[in-house]
Amino acid sequence: MKFKYILDYNKLVGTATKEQCRTCNTNTLCLNEVCFRCYQEQESLKKCPEEFRDLYTIARPEEIRKQLKDIHPDWSDHKIDEIARIRDNEIEHGTPVINGYQNFQWPCIDGDYVEFIAYGCKPFYNTLSKNGKEAFEKSIHDEMKDDLYDEYWEERVPDEIINSVGETNYATLFFVFKSLHSDKIVTYMDSM
Ligand SMILES: [Zn+2]
Repeated sequence: MKFKYILDYNKLVGTATKEQCRTCNTNTLCLNEVCFRCYQEQESLKKCPEEFRDLYTIARPEEIRKQLKDIHPDWSDHKIDEIARIRDNEIEHGTPVINGYQNFQWPCIDGDYVEFIAYGCKPFYNTLSKNGKEAFEKSIHDEMKDDLYDEYWEERVPDEIINSVGETNYATLFFVFKSLHSDKIVTYMDSM
Protein backbone atom coordinates (compact mmCIF):
# COMPACT_ATOMS: atom_id res chain seq x y z
CA MET A 1 0.00 0.00 0.00
CA LYS A 2 1.60 3.24 -1.13
CA PHE A 3 0.49 6.71 -0.12
CA LYS A 4 1.95 9.78 -1.80
CA TYR A 5 2.73 11.54 1.47
CA ILE A 6 3.84 8.58 3.62
CA LEU A 7 7.14 6.90 2.78
CA ASP A 8 6.42 3.48 4.25
CA TYR A 9 2.93 3.02 5.68
CA ASN A 10 3.47 -0.42 7.17
CA LYS A 11 6.61 0.61 8.98
CA LEU A 12 5.66 4.12 10.06
CA VAL A 13 1.93 3.92 10.71
CA GLY A 14 0.69 0.40 10.98
CA THR A 15 0.06 -2.80 9.19
CA ALA A 16 -3.06 -3.74 7.31
CA THR A 17 -5.28 -6.36 8.94
CA LYS A 18 -8.22 -8.33 7.65
CA GLU A 19 -11.38 -6.97 9.21
CA GLN A 20 -14.69 -5.31 8.42
CA CYS A 21 -14.41 -1.90 6.77
CA ARG A 22 -16.20 0.74 8.82
CA THR A 23 -17.26 2.62 5.70
CA CYS A 24 -18.41 -0.06 3.23
CA ASN A 25 -18.72 -3.05 5.60
CA THR A 26 -16.66 -5.33 3.34
CA ASN A 27 -14.57 -7.91 5.16
CA THR A 28 -11.15 -7.26 3.65
CA LEU A 29 -7.67 -5.82 4.26
CA CYS A 30 -8.09 -2.58 6.19
CA LEU A 31 -6.00 0.20 7.68
CA ASN A 32 -7.56 1.70 10.81
CA GLU A 33 -10.63 -0.38 9.97
CA VAL A 34 -11.05 1.28 6.57
CA CYS A 35 -10.41 -0.73 3.42
CA PHE A 36 -7.93 0.32 0.72
CA ARG A 37 -10.71 0.97 -1.77
CA CYS A 38 -12.49 3.38 0.56
CA TYR A 39 -9.23 5.19 1.26
CA GLN A 40 -8.55 5.67 -2.38
CA GLU A 41 -11.86 5.94 -4.13
CA GLN A 42 -13.12 9.43 -4.39
CA GLU A 43 -16.75 8.41 -4.66
CA SER A 44 -16.70 6.29 -1.52
CA LEU A 45 -15.02 9.05 0.40
CA LYS A 46 -17.68 11.54 -0.54
CA LYS A 47 -20.13 9.18 1.09
CA CYS A 48 -17.86 8.67 4.07
CA PRO A 49 -19.93 9.38 7.19
CA GLU A 50 -18.90 12.39 9.24
CA GLU A 51 -17.86 10.27 12.23
CA PHE A 52 -15.07 8.63 10.21
CA ARG A 53 -13.64 11.88 8.93
CA ASP A 54 -11.09 11.89 11.74
CA LEU A 55 -9.39 9.10 9.85
CA TYR A 56 -8.25 11.58 7.29
CA THR A 57 -5.59 14.19 7.70
CA ILE A 58 -6.06 17.95 7.75
CA ALA A 59 -4.85 20.17 4.92
CA ARG A 60 -3.46 23.71 4.98
CA PRO A 61 -5.29 25.23 2.02
CA GLU A 62 -4.18 28.83 2.64
CA GLU A 63 -0.53 28.03 3.20
CA ILE A 64 -0.31 25.85 0.09
CA ARG A 65 -1.75 28.66 -2.05
CA LYS A 66 0.56 31.25 -0.49
CA GLN A 67 3.64 29.09 -1.10
CA LEU A 68 2.64 28.37 -4.70
CA LYS A 69 2.10 32.09 -5.31
CA ASP A 70 5.56 32.89 -3.87
CA ILE A 71 7.25 30.22 -6.00
CA HIS A 72 5.26 30.99 -9.19
CA PRO A 73 4.37 34.68 -9.16
CA ASP A 74 3.47 34.41 -12.85
CA TRP A 75 0.77 31.75 -12.31
CA SER A 76 -2.85 32.82 -12.37
CA ASP A 77 -4.98 32.43 -9.24
CA HIS A 78 -7.02 29.90 -11.19
CA LYS A 79 -3.99 27.72 -11.93
CA ILE A 80 -2.76 27.94 -8.34
CA ASP A 81 -6.17 27.01 -7.05
CA GLU A 82 -6.41 24.07 -9.41
CA ILE A 83 -3.08 22.58 -8.29
CA ALA A 84 -3.65 23.37 -4.61
CA ARG A 85 -7.02 21.70 -4.71
CA ILE A 86 -5.54 18.44 -6.02
CA ARG A 87 -2.95 18.50 -3.23
CA ASP A 88 -5.47 19.38 -0.49
CA ASN A 89 -7.65 16.57 -1.71
CA GLU A 90 -4.81 14.04 -1.66
CA ILE A 91 -4.13 14.96 1.97
CA GLU A 92 -7.71 15.13 3.17
CA HIS A 93 -9.10 12.18 1.27
CA GLY A 94 -6.13 10.08 0.26
CA THR A 95 -3.83 10.04 3.27
CA PRO A 96 -4.67 8.12 6.43
CA VAL A 97 -4.07 9.82 9.73
CA ILE A 98 -0.75 8.99 11.41
CA ASN A 99 -0.70 7.68 14.96
CA GLY A 100 0.01 10.55 17.27
CA TYR A 101 -1.44 12.17 20.35
CA GLN A 102 -2.91 15.30 18.71
CA ASN A 103 -4.54 16.01 15.41
CA PHE A 104 -2.59 18.50 13.36
CA GLN A 105 -2.54 20.08 9.95
CA TRP A 106 -0.15 18.28 7.65
CA PRO A 107 2.91 20.51 7.06
CA CYS A 108 3.79 21.84 3.61
CA ILE A 109 7.00 22.98 1.96
CA ASP A 110 7.74 24.11 -1.61
CA GLY A 111 4.05 24.55 -2.42
CA ASP A 112 3.21 20.91 -1.69
CA TYR A 113 2.53 18.69 1.29
CA VAL A 114 5.54 16.89 2.70
CA GLU A 115 6.23 13.19 2.96
CA PHE A 116 6.32 11.56 6.41
CA ILE A 117 9.70 9.79 6.33
CA ALA A 118 10.73 8.92 9.91
CA TYR A 119 10.34 9.34 13.64
CA GLY A 120 12.85 11.85 14.96
CA CYS A 121 15.53 10.57 17.37
CA LYS A 122 19.14 11.52 18.09
CA PRO A 123 20.66 8.94 15.68
CA PHE A 124 18.42 10.23 12.88
CA TYR A 125 19.41 13.89 13.27
CA ASN A 126 23.05 12.88 13.71
CA THR A 127 22.99 11.40 10.21
CA LEU A 128 21.81 14.76 8.84
CA SER A 129 24.66 16.79 10.26
CA LYS A 130 27.75 16.64 12.47
CA ASN A 131 25.70 18.77 14.82
CA GLY A 132 22.53 16.73 15.24
CA LYS A 133 21.12 19.09 17.87
CA GLU A 134 21.38 22.02 15.50
CA ALA A 135 19.84 20.01 12.63
CA PHE A 136 16.96 19.06 14.92
CA GLU A 137 16.33 22.62 16.10
CA LYS A 138 16.54 24.00 12.57
CA SER A 139 13.98 21.44 11.38
CA ILE A 140 11.29 22.27 13.97
CA HIS A 141 8.10 23.56 12.41
CA ASP A 142 7.57 27.32 12.81
CA GLU A 143 4.43 26.70 14.85
CA MET A 144 6.46 25.04 17.62
CA LYS A 145 9.75 26.92 17.63
CA ASP A 146 8.65 28.70 20.83
CA ASP A 147 8.35 25.36 22.64
CA LEU A 148 12.07 24.67 22.29
CA TYR A 149 14.44 25.32 25.18
CA ASP A 150 18.18 24.75 25.54
CA GLU A 151 18.00 21.26 27.06
CA TYR A 152 15.16 20.08 24.82
CA TRP A 153 17.43 17.92 22.67
CA GLU A 154 19.10 16.32 25.66
CA GLU A 155 15.91 15.78 27.66
CA ARG A 156 13.24 14.96 25.11
CA VAL A 157 14.67 13.61 21.86
CA PRO A 158 15.00 9.78 22.08
CA ASP A 159 18.55 8.37 22.25
CA GLU A 160 17.63 5.15 20.45
CA ILE A 161 16.81 4.80 16.81
CA ILE A 162 13.07 4.42 16.19
CA ASN A 163 12.59 2.07 13.29
CA SER A 164 8.86 1.73 13.28
CA VAL A 165 5.57 2.69 14.89
CA GLY A 166 5.98 -0.23 17.32
CA GLU A 167 8.90 1.57 18.97
CA THR A 168 7.19 4.89 19.62
CA ASN A 169 6.54 4.54 23.32
CA TYR A 170 7.53 8.12 24.18
CA ALA A 171 5.64 11.03 25.75
CA THR A 172 6.75 13.25 22.86
CA LEU A 173 6.96 12.06 19.29
CA PHE A 174 8.86 13.78 16.53
CA PHE A 175 7.39 13.30 13.08
CA VAL A 176 9.97 14.01 10.40
CA PHE A 177 8.69 15.11 7.01
CA LYS A 178 10.63 15.76 3.81
CA SER A 179 9.76 17.93 0.84
CA LEU A 180 8.88 16.02 -2.32
CA HIS A 181 10.66 18.75 -4.32
CA SER A 182 13.89 19.44 -2.39
CA ASP A 183 16.00 18.17 0.52
CA LYS A 184 14.24 20.37 3.07
CA ILE A 185 12.91 18.62 6.13
CA VAL A 186 10.55 19.69 8.88
CA THR A 187 9.90 18.13 12.30
CA TYR A 188 6.48 18.26 13.91
CA MET A 189 6.45 17.62 17.66
CA ASP A 190 3.52 15.79 19.18
CA SER A 191 3.19 15.50 22.98
CA MET A 192 0.87 13.46 25.13
ZN1 LIG B 1 -14.43 0.02 2.53
